[in-house]
Amino acid sequence: MGAQFQTRRDFLKTSALAAASVPFLGALAPRAFAADPDRKLGFALAGLGNLSTHQLAPALQKTKYCKLTSIVTGQPAKAERWKVQYNIPDKNIYNYDNMWQMAGNPDIDVVYVVTPNALHAEHTIKAAKAGKHVLCEKPMEVSVEKSQQMIDECKKAGKQLAIGYRLHFEPANLECVRLVREKTFGDLRMIEAGFGFPIGDPTQWRLNKALAGGGPLMDVGIYALQATRYLSGEEPAEVSAITTVTDPVKFKEVEESIVWQAKFPSGILAHCSATYKVPGTNFFRARADRGWFELDPAFSYGGIRGRHGDGQAIRFEDIDQFAAEMDDFALCILENRPTKVPGEEGLRDVKIMMAIYEAVKTSKTVKLA
Ligand code: NAD
Repeated sequence: MGAQFQTRRDFLKTSALAAASVPFLGALAPRAFAADPDRKLGFALAGLGNLSTHQLAPALQKTKYCKLTSIVTGQPAKAERWKVQYNIPDKNIYNYDNMWQMAGNPDIDVVYVVTPNALHAEHTIKAAKAGKHVLCEKPMEVSVEKSQQMIDECKKAGKQLAIGYRLHFEPANLECVRLVREKTFGDLRMIEAGFGFPIGDPTQWRLNKALAGGGPLMDVGIYALQATRYLSGEEPAEVSAITTVTDPVKFKEVEESIVWQAKFPSGILAHCSATYKVPGTNFFRARADRGWFELDPAFSYGGIRGRHGDGQAIRFEDIDQFAAEMDDFALCILENRPTKVPGEEGLRDVKIMMAIYEAVKTSKTVKLA
């Protein structure tokens, strides 16, 4: 069978049909933007590491409704480089201690928090208190309590909070959700998913439990967890899990690899893994009554592709997932409607990941309320 390669325009047409009844698909529906169509929201990037440098700042240049107007960094030398590269005025450059001074700066509408996981609450709350909307990277935080605090403080400030779940805007992942919702292969029964990579520098924060909250589960396993949730459209009822460490020098504080299982209320079973050791794990496969489909790679920034069990390809034109995610959040703010990736969605993942770690610790199945 021929490859299925739709243009984004074709995809938007087909996805718009399904969008009304499927929350995961909703944000790709084309919409009329009645207010000033030239209005762009000012974004401050807080944390100028790898993701900001190589993905977010370049993506902001491609957005329709956003512009990079401000930076937050603890390193003056970095501020100098960014200031020149992105033409950022001195009055829009902040550090983590003076973020409160953003209040009243009309150049900033949204703060995008891109710091290590355990600093997300601190920086989100500072931004909300300064009267800014917040887009925060995944995982939302390292505990349920801190995640809830982020939601509460943004609500108190009357500001929106979104989590950087870029795959909610990615056409091939959306197509797989459509295959399940429309029961193209009948009822979904089982999901296998995994994501991982061999981690390098042993001194990085990702291997530090206090800053990362955990190992590959928190960093990349969250994508496999998300896939099980958006494919099934359900929340796991129970989880069990096991971890391994074969390099105790590098993995003193966090797991090296983890495998977990989840059972969903309808009876769907998921079998997932995340690793900081093994290369090339980046996939999901969904098995239904009359067939299966998969994406491999499933979670990359580009090149996502897959197939149905009969060989038919699943492939769409690459989009800039970060630009799509930021434009969608900007539109939600401009049109005063909720994002489909709110803080509550981030909190659900954190709750499940904590239950998975609890299952590892106790060697018991953990039930989720
Ligand atoms: P990074 O280490 O490259 O950058 C982190 C930044 O935070 C650095 O600029 C660093 O200087 C700054 N920072 C501030 N306080 C710090 C402290 N106390 N310790 C260490 N660094 C501190 O990390 P990254 O890869 O850019 O990841 C940042 C966040 O983005 C993480 O939450 C990560 O999970 C998330 N992320 C998401 C994606 C995605 O696809 N959505 C991809 C990569 C990273």
